[in-house]
This record gives sequence, C-alpha cells and structure tokens, in this order.
Amino acid sequence: MNWRERAACRYEDPELFFPVGDGGLSVRQVEEARTVCRRCPVLRDCRSWALHHAEYEGIWGGLTAAERRMAARRRLPERDRS
Ligand code: SF4
Repeated sequence: MNWRERAACRYEDPELFFPVGDGGLSVRQVEEARTVCRRCPVLRDCRSWALHHAEYEGIWGGLTAAERRMAARRRLPERDRS
C-alpha cells in the first residue's frame, strides 16, 4: 500500500497545506495543517519523500517549505550548500 493512501490529509482541503503569503491567515493555516500532520500515521514517510524530492512548496510531513530547506542544508556537507 502506498503511504499516501493512509494520509490524514487525504480528505482535507488541499489549500490548507499550501498557504499563500505570511500574514495572519497563512499562520493559522500552517498551524491547522500541522495539527492534521501530528495525527498522521505516515508523517515520517511524507517528510522523507518531500525532503528526498526537494518538494519546496506547501506543508509536508508537518514542516513548512522553509523548515525543509533548513533540514536539507543541515544534511549537506558545507561545501555543497548554496
Ligand atoms: S504528514 Fe501531513 S502532509 Fe504528510 S501525508 Fe500526513 S497529513 Fe498529509
């Protein structure tokens, strides 16, 4: 079974996971999305997939795009950072 079939966000509004801007509404959307992710049985698979595929839009695995970029940088040797 593909991990996506067990995703807690499967029946949620996809827009919740792709907040626009960085104002108050966006902050609330991120927190609501994280709440869904926290109860998701495939959080680790989702996060890993997003990091591996350089998916830098939206909330994946409970992390924002900025958080995933930071996580990816921490994994790279210093000489490979851009
Ligand atoms: S971790 Fe979050 S974004 Fe990923 S599948 Fe689960 S609910 Fe969806």
